[in-house]
Amino acid sequence: MRTRSGALIDDDLKIDLPPDTYMQALRDGVELSKVRSLFITHTHADHYYLHELAMLFPPFAHDGPALRIFGDRWAIEGILQTFPNWPQRENLYTIEAYQKIEVDGAEVWSLRAAHYPSRGALNYVVRRGGRTLLYGMDSGWFPDDSWAAQKEFRFDAVILDCTHGAIPAGAYHGGIDSVIATKERMLQEGTATEDTVFVANHFSHNGGLLHEELEERLSPHDILVAYDGMVLEV
Ligand SMILES: [Zn+2]
Ligand SMILES: [Zn+2]
Repeated sequence: MRTRSGALIDDDLKIDLPPDTYMQALRDGVELSKVRSLFITHTHADHYYLHELAMLFPPFAHDGPALRIFGDRWAIEGILQTFPNWPQRENLYTIEAYQKIEVDGAEVWSLRAAHYPSRGALNYVVRRGGRTLLYGMDSGWFPDDSWAAQKEFRFDAVILDCTHGAIPAGAYHGGIDSVIATKERMLQEGTATEDTVFVANHFSHNGGLLHEELEERLSPHDILVAYDGMVLEV
């Protein structure tokens, strides 16, 4: 079963708000009220179900915590258009690629993704407690400026777009081929080591492979295949 992709880091830092978020929280026993920061990668509907944000405020909730939301201008403008009376405007942050943001003991860097050409999309690097994660979805092969920016980091975990599965990667989504090639390049560049955990995620049915079939092709390269509810210790 594949619901739409997002991530929760340490209970309080969320990446993306897919339309399945509420079901995922019920299924996995996640307390979304602990989330203090939400980073939006881009405004495609599978990552950005902003109507759910209404549940934070009256008449649906009355003691909602402050939630900081970070996203590009499309993401933030979309919130303000949908909720003209958004009660926490000071917690909406419009960001661009190659910014560094500090929240609750975490450092977050935004990278430009190869995705959604008419609006653009962001990938995120999150560092907390001395551990560094690259959330590389959605994106095709990373743009040169992203590769250059990544050289500052040594990732402990890397999550990559494998939408196309067995079909060759496209300009705006990855596949098995680009996931393997990305790992090889990161090892060459020293942004990853043999200890870095690589995870492929964001699978489309068009890729034509079941979970086990993806594992057959990716596990020889020591790349994990994500599944719903996956918990990763970084
Ligand atoms: Zn997308
Ligand atoms: Zn997507």
